[in-house]
Amino acid sequence: MNPFAKLLAIARRKSPWIYTVNSGSCNGCDIEIGPCISPRYDGEQIGMLRQGSPKHADILVVTGTLTRRSRQAVLDIYAQMPSPKAVVAIGSCPASGNVFAGSPSIDGPLDKYIPVDVWVSGCPPRPQLIIAGVAQAAQLLADGATADQKRTLKSC
Ligand code: SF4
Repeated sequence: MNPFAKLLAIARRKSPWIYTVNSGSCNGCDIEIGPCISPRYDGEQIGMLRQGSPKHADILVVTGTLTRRSRQAVLDIYAQMPSPKAVVAIGSCPASGNVFAGSPSIDGPLDKYIPVDVWVSGCPPRPQLIIAGVAQAAQLLADGATADQKRTLKSC
């Protein structure tokens, strides 16, 4: 790895900027994301920062089961994020629909539409687990191992 690539890898690992989207959550998982940036859990120790625009984020953090109404918004937000990027799915809902499974409003699982790099289980997961999931995604970005990075490599 050349020195510039090494520097980029360190930067990606140490400054995961996230953009959060609620794709149909009950709000339980979203409530757990807020404290991740608080002094108590201190996600900033790993460089984790919330961004107001997907264009400034490295990691898309998705909460909730994917509903039919939110599907296009999630796809648009994912498309707006610059590569390389990662996706972290929070809670049981994005994977299985959880308590909403079987509803005609549901269109998941999330990875039917966008590649998911890290699944954080729980209903809801604790802030420590969410921070660990974001750190794992940042490490994948540094290693060039996210689904987005692998797809880019294949198409070269
Ligand atoms: S995983 Fe649980 S807390 Fe999180 S959005 Fe689903 S039902 Fe709510």
